[in-house]
Amino acid sequence: MSDTWQHIRYEIPVDRVARITLARAETANAQDYRMLSELNEAFDRAARDESVRVIVLAADGKHFSSGHDLRAGTSMDDIEPIGTQCHFDAPGAEGYMATEAEMYVGLCWRWRNIPKPTIAQVQGKVIAGGLMLVWPMDLIVCAEDATFSDPVVAFGVNGHEYFTHPYEVGARLAKEMLFTGRAITAEEALRHGMVTKVVPNAELESSTLELASHIARRPMFGLTLAKQSVNNTLDAMGMYTAIQSAFGLHHVGHNHNLRLHDSLVDPEGIAVIRSEA
Ligand code: ZN
Repeated sequence: MSDTWQHIRYEIPVDRVARITLARAETANAQDYRMLSELNEAFDRAARDESVRVIVLAADGKHFSSGHDLRAGTSMDDIEPIGTQCHFDAPGAEGYMATEAEMYVGLCWRWRNIPKPTIAQVQGKVIAGGLMLVWPMDLIVCAEDATFSDPVVAFGVNGHEYFTHPYEVGARLAKEMLFTGRAITAEEALRHGMVTKVVPNAELESSTLELASHIARRPMFGLTLAKQSVNNTLDAMGMYTAIQSAFGLHHVGHNHNLRLHDSLVDPEGIAVIRSEA
């Protein structure tokens, strides 16, 4: 648990507010399974702490997160699954689909439904899987230099695994982001309602804590009921079904790549993405 966490930090910076910080600045907070597992444990700790009413997710370094760590690193053998998925080592599509269902869609959906307000505190680049940490949060405070992109169509898949793009930025911009792979700016994200507010980099931490403290003065159960009501509305609009539908197509993409390239992603994608970054 907390004394063994390597990739995150946990603290109570102000009364009633827990802050979880991604602490792999040397990799631009690339997410391996260990980081995601630690993050989940930290969210659980904040959710179960009766003295915490608001949870902030922050990140060390210049960039919030460069996405999933694609290098060989931790495997499912290194962590304790918390969902009901299984057969992670199964051949064919079975094992990898279960792995992504557990580690990506499953965890994101779990965090999205924590019955306390959550706030992402975002600076620098947020790329692909990085969005999967930002979008499940209820509010997003971002610095002026924040940018958001999901360029993975270049890898021959539809987008990252937690496919809420149309809910976050609207269908038109979602398609443009996916088709072109371009990063949208903080100001653009604000205009489309994707972020709560944009502040100067120097004020990012104080502004986020101020918002968290303001919210934390309200009664816990009122906050929980308000959050659940908005989430229920999104669910009535088909959010969960849309995510699962896109996840199925995502795995058509992975398996298409396996047949053509013997790789989960189109190997030419990385050069395309780098040339445009
Ligand atoms: Zn995938």
